[in-house]
Amino acid sequence: MKIVMLGAPGAGKGTQAAKLSLQYAIPQISTGKIFRDHIKNQTTLGKNIEEFINKGLFVPDELTLDVVLNRIRKEDCLNGYILDGFPRNIQQAIALKENQGEMDFVLNISVQDELIIDRMKYRRFCPSCGRNYHMLHLPPKKENICDYCGHELTIRKDDKEETVKRRLLVYHEQTQPLIEYYQKQNLLFTIDGTQKVQDVFDHLLALIGE
Ligand code: AMP
Repeated sequence: MKIVMLGAPGAGKGTQAAKLSLQYAIPQISTGKIFRDHIKNQTTLGKNIEEFINKGLFVPDELTLDVVLNRIRKEDCLNGYILDGFPRNIQQAIALKENQGEMDFVLNISVQDELIIDRMKYRRFCPSCGRNYHMLHLPPKKENICDYCGHELTIRKDDKEETVKRRLLVYHEQTQPLIEYYQKQNLLFTIDGTQKVQDVFDHLLALIGE
């Protein structure tokens, strides 16, 4: 099962992708997390992409494609995968199709911009395992500590309000056209992302089925 998660930054793609990954036992491939790990480890790639990410801009396609296509070729992806944060523009979608054929589901989580800006103020993330929390709606059990790995939570540099606004602009310009692109291929399902996390998830399960 090959799934693409679409949606603006902060729409809840990562949260839902993590739940789907557990449900269907297929890996969640988050380009943002892969990039953040490279930055944390100060690899050559990490050093090259740090500025793009901190400014809220896209990492260049050739670097992104290289990372994603290599990841998808790994053995744990044989039964499928969930792409969380890729593709983010038409060129990436075309490259994905050329390389992997048609996807099974494109799940578009829809949330209006004003709500996203508000949500991001409360977002915390675990720099170790990459999980996201919302201080009001999805808080960790122990204050500021990741439920899964016990690491201290932090705020992503690119979650500053100014950077979030830039990321939303880039989303509307470059990623939103993918909605029509996948609609034309009859692969798109749009879900109201303003519902509670579990309600969005139940909706996704109903769409995908067993
Ligand atoms: P995310 O964790 O999905 O919000 O991604 C964080 C940042 O990583 C984005 O704002 C981009 O700078 C970069 N990034 C993630 N995925 C992609 C992609 N498919 N193409 C280009 N840049 C990406």
